[in-house]
Amino acid sequence: MTKVLVATEKPFAKVAVDGIKRIIEEAGLEFALLEKYTDKKQLLDAVKDANAIIIRSDQIDAEVLDAAKELKIVVRAGAGYDNVDLAAATAHNVCVMNTPGQNSNAVAELVMGMLVFMYRNLFNGASGSELMGKKLGILAYGNVGRNVARIAKGFGMEIYAYDQFVSAADIEKEGVKAVASRDALFETCDIVSLHIPKTPETVKSINAELLSKMPKGACLINTARQEVIDEEGICKFMAERTDFKYATDIKPTNDAEMAKFEGRYFTTPKKMGAQTAEANINAGLAAARQIVDFIKNGNEKFRVNK
Ligand code: NAD
Repeated sequence: MTKVLVATEKPFAKVAVDGIKRIIEEAGLEFALLEKYTDKKQLLDAVKDANAIIIRSDQIDAEVLDAAKELKIVVRAGAGYDNVDLAAATAHNVCVMNTPGQNSNAVAELVMGMLVFMYRNLFNGASGSELMGKKLGILAYGNVGRNVARIAKGFGMEIYAYDQFVSAADIEKEGVKAVASRDALFETCDIVSLHIPKTPETVKSINAELLSKMPKGACLINTARQEVIDEEGICKFMAERTDFKYATDIKPTNDAEMAKFEGRYFTTPKKMGAQTAEANINAGLAAARQIVDFIKNGNEKFRVNK
């Protein structure tokens, strides 16, 4: 029987595990669970006879793929999949999928919450400013970026976006102004919210030179990935530009140094963009459905290692 393993060092909520199990078993497949493993060896043992695996931020590298002789598919419940070695998966003839869109609203709501928090002086009691009328730049108009645009419209913000792979026409049909380049987005907007993936091109791409293009009183919001930030550069920049604000959902490695920018810098203690009951459940259930559809119908719609 086809065996579907849920392998999560940080477990799904129980209601999500129950839902995944139901979807798997109703499709006539076998369900197996490895949660809170503390040693990679436990993962290597568990994957031996698995035909499909559902993971969260678990590392699927060449060693795991070597051990998983029967494996056909890995689904990362979530958007970012840089925890899976795609080249090794392709070499092992394993299909890798993510579950795009399932946690986008959760991340977008956090973006707006962080924005209000930053513009109200971290709720310190002092008079702040409003988001209405401010120019919001969305860097990468994917699932999260689109949800940010949808919510920001309700705040009365002027919304701009740039995406290397989404046409201006597609952006504009949603009532968002498309700009011609990434740099133009930073030049134009009071606030830039990052929604780019971590790729060789984007790593450390958000640097002091780019931020220096932003107007006075500007704010950067990062709910994307820590690696896209040039951390040393942003730290130096904030020392010079005392008007600049930065809020991030991915704690910088130089957090202790950044903390000196009190009132202008904020980090969540741990990544919490997708940490909602709803997102946790949605992504897990979507992963289970995608596996069933792949095994029964060969559907590879969400494959990321094409
Ligand atoms: P998505 O795949 O739906 O969208 C990503 C978009 O980035 C795509 O539209 C793509 O065309 C665009 N893009 C790729 N490279 C680009 C480049 N160099 N310049 C401009 N645009 C580029 O992904 P998503 O679900 O919207 O997630 C966006 C980011 O948010 C990812 O980095 C993801 O890892 C991160 N994320 C964080 C959390 C969190 O908990 N904070 C949760 C979910 C996603």
